Amino acid sequence: MALERTLAIIKPDAIQKGVIGEIIQKMEEANLKPIGIKMLHLDHARAEAFYAVHKEKAFFADLVNFMASGPIIVLCLEGENGVAKWRVTMGATNPDQAADGSLRKDYGSDVQCNAVHGSDGPDTAQFEINFFFEQNDLYAYEWV
Ligand code: GDP
Ligand code: MG
Repeated sequence: MALERTLAIIKPDAIQKGVIGEIIQKMEEANLKPIGIKMLHLDHARAEAFYAVHKEKAFFADLVNFMASGPIIVLCLEGENGVAKWRVTMGATNPDQAADGSLRKDYGSDVQCNAVHGSDGPDTAQFEINFFFEQNDLYAYEWV
């Protein structure tokens, strides 16, 4: 299987909880290598643009307010079957329904404040990676 890239976000709630290190450790344990990483604070317009696919949802305004409430860390991850692997590592959207040992089970608070984001497919991943990273921000390095 080929290497695949995906976009991960450590959301404001997880930054507040002080679990950046634990989350990145889980990425590395899953053989998902960070090839781009940065901290930023989205304003409302940028959060709305990132989550435009959800603009008709009842929770859209709350989601945008939450994502603009504090700094986030965005990462481009690369690994075998990377998109699906990161979704499994995160767990279900609602932490109550997330599998034991998943990040959302361990660090999520509720269906909105669920610690992490992950792209839901290869096309979405491409859009989301480009939303945050220039090609020159990403590091291709040898896997050992
Ligand atoms: P994901 O792909 O697992 O992140 O889930 P979705 O794409 O369906 O939703 C995007 C994000 O919106 C989720 O990760 C949550 O932060 C938030 N969200 C999803 N469903 C709800 C909801 O019912 N209420 C609220 N307030 N937020 C939600
Ligand atoms: Mg989604």
